[in-house]
Amino acid sequence: MRLALMMSLATLVTGLAYGTDVSLVSQAPIWSAKPDLAAFETMENERLAAAQRSIDRLVSHRGPRTVENTLVPYDDAIREIDSASDFSGLMQQLHPDEKFRDAATAMTTRASGVQTALLLNGDVYRALGAIDLSKADAATRYYVKRQLLEFRLAGVDKDAATRQRIKKLQDELTEALSIYDRNISDDSRVVVFDSAQALEGLPQDYIDRHKPDTDGKIRITTRYPDLFPVLTFARSADTRRRLWEAFNSRAYPKNREVLEKIMKTRYQLATLNGYSAWPDYDAADRMIGNGANIGKFIEELDAAVRPTEQREYALLLAEKRKVDPAATDLYAYETWRLKELVGESQYGFDAQSVRPYLPYPEVKQGVLDTAAALFHVTFTQEIAAPAWDPKVETWDVFDEGKAIGRFYLDMHPRKGKYSHAAMAPVLDGVRGRQLPEAALMCNFPEPTADDPGLMDIDDATTFFHEFGHLMHHILGGQQPWAGISGISMERDFVEAPSQMLEEWMQSPQVLATFARHYKTGEPIPAELVARMNRASAFGRASDVAIQNALADVSYQVYRVRPQKVDLEALTDHALQRYTLYKPIPEDRRLYANFTHLGNYSSAYYTYMWDKVIAEDFFAQFDPKNPLAGSAPMRYRRIVLEPGGSKSANELVRNFLGRPQNLEAFQTWLGREFAGQSQTR
Ligand SMILES: [Zn+2]
Repeated sequence: MRLALMMSLATLVTGLAYGTDVSLVSQAPIWSAKPDLAAFETMENERLAAAQRSIDRLVSHRGPRTVENTLVPYDDAIREIDSASDFSGLMQQLHPDEKFRDAATAMTTRASGVQTALLLNGDVYRALGAIDLSKADAATRYYVKRQLLEFRLAGVDKDAATRQRIKKLQDELTEALSIYDRNISDDSRVVVFDSAQALEGLPQDYIDRHKPDTDGKIRITTRYPDLFPVLTFARSADTRRRLWEAFNSRAYPKNREVLEKIMKTRYQLATLNGYSAWPDYDAADRMIGNGANIGKFIEELDAAVRPTEQREYALLLAEKRKVDPAATDLYAYETWRLKELVGESQYGFDAQSVRPYLPYPEVKQGVLDTAAALFHVTFTQEIAAPAWDPKVETWDVFDEGKAIGRFYLDMHPRKGKYSHAAMAPVLDGVRGRQLPEAALMCNFPEPTADDPGLMDIDDATTFFHEFGHLMHHILGGQQPWAGISGISMERDFVEAPSQMLEEWMQSPQVLATFARHYKTGEPIPAELVARMNRASAFGRASDVAIQNALADVSYQVYRVRPQKVDLEALTDHALQRYTLYKPIPEDRRLYANFTHLGNYSSAYYTYMWDKVIAEDFFAQFDPKNPLAGSAPMRYRRIVLEPGGSKSANELVRNFLGRPQNLEAFQTWLGREFAGQSQTR
């Protein structure tokens, strides 16, 4: 189908983003003042001071508590603190000047200290609890209820000594977490190979970048751009295995002690707050609700994955036997290579064949046009808007001609810039008061005079993923309160809308609208998309099984009293129990370098939990044309627009008419076998 043309003529004609009727002028772009470092710090300090004034006003009020005299100033404070911490977070990752980034990092720490202190403020807690909500709407009642829960989980209603102890433990936890992360990022290992033979099978540009040293030896690091090509293309099993062993040994054994400290601290925090272990405490404000449900989900996922996983395993093992006829086992590190080979032998697909159809400018336009058609909005670029870097683009979002938000695209690598891909909220939306703003920070290939900026499938899929977060923040940013705006809901829901948008990258109809060969302009052939989809479906079940084993590690590490935990045995058990791969000794060390054990703690299940929801959601769309019919608008209204004004479990039930289940997910898992017999 043809998508609506979304590029605005106004942009081209006037260089301005908007006519007077649909103006965003009420809100200047974040960088309009072009702040230098001093101006940035003044701006931030003013926001935090404004938050403090609101809190003081709230606390000093005498007389009955109302929404007007208590929740209004409270939400003002939240909005100001969020603005300060979002902006400093953004500058910390993106500002081109290192000094500015360092100052922003210090400001982020300050803003987060203000957040923590607010949650331990008993006066504010009691004031919120005393508000007369008898005439308030459902969203406002839900907001207050959820805030009170967050205050209680922070320990606000404990005695002074306990609160002090909690504060101390929290500081210790913050420190231990940063040591755990730093130990991993600092420990990039180098593996030495005797000759260039070790790299046979790798693309020529990789071999050229890894010439032998003066001693004739080849040195390969465990960093991602070095590691993944080796795991995927190196013919030598020895090369792959040795690099994998080094990779899995990062921060080992150093991080064993650090992780044990983190486990103990979290256990103490949970028990001080009246919970028997960390997962119950951590899950208390999530969709999943408690620790036992995490264990239950892992078991259900395992049962759903097994049949497809076994079929995939048989194909992978058969592929391995082509070079090693006596092989009886598969190891996790072999999966990249074998998946690539099965993709070629079974599906005739070579990932390189899609890249010429995915130059960055076309993919960007494709993402915008797809989102515009799907969510019934329009996008207009503000050509003249200044930003922290000249290459950053500023875009406005309109709904039926009315401005509803703004976003910034900072999409290509730059020295000192954040090195992954993410959506960052910039401003909370508050209906009638402040428009939501967000930024994408990515590192996609940049088109230049002699390079079209070709993206691979993963890059383009990531673009869709992050744009899913962005639309969630903007469309959910029309709520009456900052604290329930955008993606403020339970943290184990936020990856569902983003993972769902990845599906649009698989639709031949959608791809045909923007994926054109950079030389010939020919649209991507539907037949190539079909092969791509089959090949990329292959290996999903094995990948999910590994994710499930990792989710189990993340749960088991925190499930019981830390003194009883044997980290290596626990990791070994999870790998044997939930995957068909045979662990090698180094696999058991992954707890030392699995960063999510720090920041996600026991909630690594989140990605799979949300994938299940995303597939269940996507199954409600027309498979022939996922932009058509009533599903897109229903999805926007029922799932995205409520933001955090309802529980995520309710959002899911409202859209599906029931809680999520694993059926659509199972179909997604086995899509490479669709149309083939299920028995073998
Ligand atoms: Zn995400």
